[in-house]
Amino acid sequence: MIFVDTHAHLGDPQFDADRDSIFERAAAAGVTRIVEIADHPDEWARAVALARARPDNARCTLGLHPYYADLYDDAFLSKLRAALNATPEAVAIGEIGLDYAKATVPHDAQRRAFEKIAAAAKSWGVPIVVHCRDAYPDLVPMLQKIFPERPVANRFWGVIHCFTGTPENAEACSNLGFALGADGPVTYKKNDALREAFRRAGPEAAVLETDSPYLPPQSMRGKRNEPASILEIAAKLAEVWGVPLDEVARRTSANAAALYRWP
Ligand SMILES: [Zn+2]
Ligand SMILES: [Zn+2]
Repeated sequence: MIFVDTHAHLGDPQFDADRDSIFERAAAAGVTRIVEIADHPDEWARAVALARARPDNARCTLGLHPYYADLYDDAFLSKLRAALNATPEAVAIGEIGLDYAKATVPHDAQRRAFEKIAAAAKSWGVPIVVHCRDAYPDLVPMLQKIFPERPVANRFWGVIHCFTGTPENAEACSNLGFALGADGPVTYKKNDALREAFRRAGPEAAVLETDSPYLPPQSMRGKRNEPASILEIAAKLAEVWGVPLDEVARRTSANAAALYRWP
């Protein structure tokens, strides 16, 4: 069985002492592919270096997290475009998005940055990694406007990473052509509503992610998360969908390959 961790932050200093062993433990768990996410332009070079050092196992993304959306200006898109052109390892733009729970940037500035970057990504043919906290009522209509038609073939416009919305949000996003990222929270005891969202959306659009070092699954709560914990998330989805674990591996890995165009 082969798994893909579609979202991790392994450049985080918390991994400085044992980064190589994190990749080894991931591979031993069947997690042979990891996508490193860069949230801020100052992190882009670090993410690219991490991916470039592991061409068989890692790719990266370049983003501007809603926490930093006030950095968006007219020069940003040309800087992003130049960085993407110089970086074959970069498979998506993200994280970008809306965070009404923790970000201090005003909502209208977040929406403006997200809309501009998402529209540019679409025109460039690059998928996006969307971060959304407590903002689905604004996010869904924006996605409908920017991505009015379905993506071609079995592709996705992007992923709603760490999906934590309602079953209705899940249906709306997957109907628009977005994948849904399942993380540690699907394993938390209290999260029956989230499991119901993934049950209803089914395996068609789901991808696995850890968001390491954040969001450890139930058995590791309070600890540093790492990509090997994909197995615990996959096992929970196998329960939710009533399918064998190898079916979860096969479906989510195929979705990840389609999402990031990493065959
Ligand atoms: Zn995020
Ligand atoms: Zn993240």
